[in-house]
Amino acid sequence: ATTTPTEQKFIFRSKLPDIPIPTHLPLHSYCFQNLPLFHDRPCLIDAETGTTLTYADVHLATRRISAGLHSIGIRKGDVIMLVLRNCPEFALAFLGASRCGAPITTANPFYTPAELAKQATATKTKLIITQSAYVEKFKEYVETNNGDVKIISIDGSPDEESQEKDNSVLQFSLLTSSNENDEPQVNITPDDLVAIPFSSGTSGLPKGVMLTHSNLVTTVAQLVDGENPHQYTHSEDVLLCVLPMFHIYALNSILLCGIRAGAVVLIVQKFEITTLMELIEKYRVTVASLVPPIVLAVVKSGDAHKYDLSSIRGVISGAAPMGMELQEAVKARLPHATLGQGYGMTEAGPLAISLAFAKEPFKVKSGACGSVVRNAEMKIVDPDTGASLPHNKPGEICIRGTKVMKGYLNDRDATDRTIDKEGWLHTGDIGYLDDDEELFIVDRLKELIKYKGYQVAPAELESLLIAHPNISDAAVVPMKDEVAGEVPVAFVVRSNGSNITEDEIKKYISKQVVFYKRINRVFFTESIPKAASGKILRKLLTARLNEGLVGN
Ligand code: AMP
Repeated sequence: ATTTPTEQKFIFRSKLPDIPIPTHLPLHSYCFQNLPLFHDRPCLIDAETGTTLTYADVHLATRRISAGLHSIGIRKGDVIMLVLRNCPEFALAFLGASRCGAPITTANPFYTPAELAKQATATKTKLIITQSAYVEKFKEYVETNNGDVKIISIDGSPDEESQEKDNSVLQFSLLTSSNENDEPQVNITPDDLVAIPFSSGTSGLPKGVMLTHSNLVTTVAQLVDGENPHQYTHSEDVLLCVLPMFHIYALNSILLCGIRAGAVVLIVQKFEITTLMELIEKYRVTVASLVPPIVLAVVKSGDAHKYDLSSIRGVISGAAPMGMELQEAVKARLPHATLGQGYGMTEAGPLAISLAFAKEPFKVKSGACGSVVRNAEMKIVDPDTGASLPHNKPGEICIRGTKVMKGYLNDRDATDRTIDKEGWLHTGDIGYLDDDEELFIVDRLKELIKYKGYQVAPAELESLLIAHPNISDAAVVPMKDEVAGEVPVAFVVRSNGSNITEDEIKKYISKQVVFYKRINRVFFTESIPKAASGKILRKLLTARLNEGLVGN
């Protein structure tokens, strides 16, 4: 298909010039390209223990880990699953695996054993790197794979006694004490996979998102490289990494961007507002990449005045919509800081970012989530006709460029539904660009529910619901929530003669899913509205919620 002149006119690009991006480099080589400049500077700080690793330490550890992985039989293309709370080992394992040619699939350590097993099975995970507290969760997956799967714990076994009995759990020190000179020489091409995070995309169940070395080199370069950098982060920065590293936002925009830029990445294991403010003061954090609920917590905290937060030069909010009121509150609370928004998705990294951090700062408008990143094209299309739309007309946001994922793992149909023949990735988000090229997101066309920035796929909960003998049909939709942004609620049709209650349904789901996928409310109904194709008419259900036409 060719692009018509009208369509060409409605392809939007950054106000900043494109930059050369070394997509020929493997991700780890690209991240450490400036190593000689930063060699002895701090790279990773573990806020939990205060341990600091310099750039030289991190680089050496990744070489050793690569050698260690090879020594335990990991070969190019073998998938490694990281199931870790935020910790330096996450970064070391990720970059070590990259050197070894083994793609990393990242998962939330709070997932239930069933959720983890699904992801491990879908990716044919060969090795799991985790913490002792979570080893038990993989028992069944390891057993069903007859010893073909190894587990490495970064902090020993759950208890000393079981350590003696349980030789199947290897220790992380086995990797870090390997000889860097034994590192395998792996030929990595730009199109090889480096990460497989999971996302449900625009519809259906969570799927493996195949991200290549060139994808991630592009998404990092778009934020930190070039002569006219966004200065999103630079080598003097101390970056707060409190968002989960298993999600692309922290992985890409904090960890990898920070290392490429030569900054310090302060790794915080868990979010607790007072500790967070103490850490900001102690380590003189300069850039805080957050999600709206954490921004809200900072703004609302009665103790905020007790801490010196003046080191913060930039606050970036992403992963979910940030209301104008909250934006204004941040500006009042942190008047010395620049507030920016980013809009991104697992399948394409950051699509838009505020130019607040550019050398020539552009005005940041309340409610806008930035403008399209460099080296990419954006268009807004009419979801019904597919026609490209001009400024100020809302439509589906599409993005094109080397940032776009290779596809969904083993799911050709979902890939074809998401990336069209011309290479445009359809985001499922509805937005418009104003006359200043600022992007405003106004709605979501896709099924996705976002709880504090975490993904909840309605299809996943629906399949669990209809597997219950007392439920004949179900649909899950988002309900607005002041704290979480959105929570999942279910419309349920009981099976004939069933008296199943809201409580029983909630308990049944809670046992099978991570906390943020729990169903917040259940509304019983006679039938689920569907199109002739069988597709659930979710908008009708959301409208019922908004109009208060529900209740049991
Ligand atoms: P994920 O793949 O988990 O990062 O989720 C991506 C989705 O989160 C996007 O397609 C949007 O629906 C939503 N999202 C991300 N950033 C923003 C933002 N700044 N404003 C509104 N929605 C956002």
